[in-house]
Amino acid sequence: MQASKIEHIGIAVKDLDKSISLYEEMLGYECYKVEEVKDQKVRTAFFKIGETKLELLEATDPSSPIARFIEKRGEGMHHLAFAVSNIEERLMNMEKKGINLIDKKARKGADDLNIAFLHPGSTSGVLIELCENKNKK
Ligand code: ZN
Repeated sequence: MQASKIEHIGIAVKDLDKSISLYEEMLGYECYKVEEVKDQKVRTAFFKIGETKLELLEATDPSSPIARFIEKRGEGMHHLAFAVSNIEERLMNMEKKGINLIDKKARKGADDLNIAFLHPGSTSGVLIELCENKNKK
């Protein structure tokens, strides 16, 4: 797939403000962005860790995928995101290889990224997100 790096690690949290404080204290600096993604019914907060980011995700609605995840498994690591280019082409190739896609087409995610999720049933139980930063080519 030629991912260029781990773009971010997504962590599902119950209380975003509480978790922001916790991570700010742990990392010793402030989160650089808090953003609501209405589409996915989440509020997110981002921390830079070198080349990678941490994405904290809080559900804004009981029907949010994050709410369902926390209901089943509690707070914790939710997904791993790879930075890629040509995301649409990659999705097509993966589908051809038999990888089950949650998103057949890339959509707009948080932090100015085009994103698509792969089904954890096809990826050894880990929810994988592909991210393309259209501004950085
Ligand atoms: Zn993510």
